Amino acid sequence: LAALGSEEPVAVYDPATDPHRPARLSLMGDLRHALEKQGDDTGLALVYQPKLHLPSGRIDGAEGLLRWRHPVAGPLAPEAFIALAEETGNIRRLTRWVLAAGIEQAGRWQSQGRDLRLALNVSARDLDDVDLPRRVAGLLSAHGVSPQRIVLEITESAIMGKPDTAIAVLRRLADQGIELAIDDFGVGQSSFAYLRKLPVRELKIDRTFIAHLGQSPEDRAIVRSIIDLGHHLGYRVTAEGVEDPRALDALRDLGCDHAQGYFVARPLAEDAFDAFVAKQRAALTDVEA
Ligand code: C2E
Ligand code: MG
Ligand code: MG
Ligand code: MG
Repeated sequence: LAALGSEEPVAVYDPATDPHRPARLSLMGDLRHALEKQGDDTGLALVYQPKLHLPSGRIDGAEGLLRWRHPVAGPLAPEAFIALAEETGNIRRLTRWVLAAGIEQAGRWQSQGRDLRLALNVSARDLDDVDLPRRVAGLLSAHGVSPQRIVLEITESAIMGKPDTAIAVLRRLADQGIELAIDDFGVGQSSFAYLRKLPVRELKIDRTFIAHLGQSPEDRAIVRSIIDLGHHLGYRVTAEGVEDPRALDALRDLGCDHAQGYFVARPLAEDAFDAFVAKQRAALTDVEA
């Protein structure tokens, strides 16, 4: 699956425009089949996009992003099959796979002495699962991972859907030491009220506000406000979708904590990620020496 790390163009399966419902069902059958398989031939993999800590210039974490190489259709974009898994009730199984693979990876980094935090995405439907905190605790202890190394990313709409259950599940996760991040911040149909009820540690500014940051005064004002909001609440703030040096400079000026995006690095397969971090740390050491 190493080739997936280079983010080759993917065939986008779009269920909304799919006139062949049987094809959708068979895609989900294939996904279930992949999830039942053991070992490395599932076609599923996580790729890791580096997160740059702006004050230190260090890569101090990554977001794990799901990839599925379908045996016939080839690589599929996650937005297509994740939405389908949500609709067909397969998302919990998929999330279990992601959590198991991600926490195992975090355990490898921890045992190699790499100081990296790993963020994983969970869906709205996962937050109805009252078993989730226990499952995560089990994986952490099985792989000897400290909970502070794992961040779970949720979107505002995931919380708005089923506030009471979701908040209870998220509180139990946070009580274990897992960190919570709000993903795609600023584009959800949100009220800020949930921020008072949730033990959030990080806001991730949606990439639509970052894309034109270098040239748009409006976007700059919005991004500045989100960074200030996050910092006043005691959260870290990450900008996603950093694609050019001007956006990165603006984020440094505005005091943003982390930058993630193609300008820093594409999502990378495990080996390429390890090589990237090693190279980046060697370069930093050279500069300091
Ligand atoms: P997200 O969590 O907001 O992840 C960021 C997405 O932005 C990723 O797309 C990433 O590849 C892409 N990206 C990163 N840097 C840039 C950039 O500079 N420019 C642009 N245009 N895009 C950039 P990806 O991997 O296709 O994932 C799309 C979405 O699918 C994710 O958005 C997330 O909502 C969902 N997803 C991915 N993996 C998982 C997973 O394991 N579980 C769940 N539930 N959802 C996942
Ligand atoms: Mg995310
Ligand atoms: Mg996002
Ligand atoms: Mg997104």
